[in-house]
Amino acid sequence: MGMYDSIDLKMDCPQCGAKYLDFQTKDAGNCLDMLQPEEVENFYTSCEDCGSWIRFNRLDQDLVHHFLVRGKDLHEYWHFGEYYYRCQISYNVSPEGG
Ligand SMILES: [Zn+2]
Repeated sequence: MGMYDSIDLKMDCPQCGAKYLDFQTKDAGNCLDMLQPEEVENFYTSCEDCGSWIRFNRLDQDLVHHFLVRGKDLHEYWHFGEYYYRCQISYNVSPEGG
């Protein structure tokens, strides 16, 4: 198990409602720092209660601009700082297994 940084974000599991998942990232220096969500492009966690993998991926800024120009509703995306993130949930899948 490698080093990682923690994300300063506490949220309930979107699948089962378990309290306060702890998110990690390997995008930064992996120095066990506490980072804000908007500081990294990808972060993830797993829920011990239901086995879900929850991953956040930052949307490309050009894509966000494209959406905004077309008046697309971005409510399905998460907004951290000035960035939008897509939340993907998968079940019982290890990160190594894709
Ligand atoms: Zn869960």
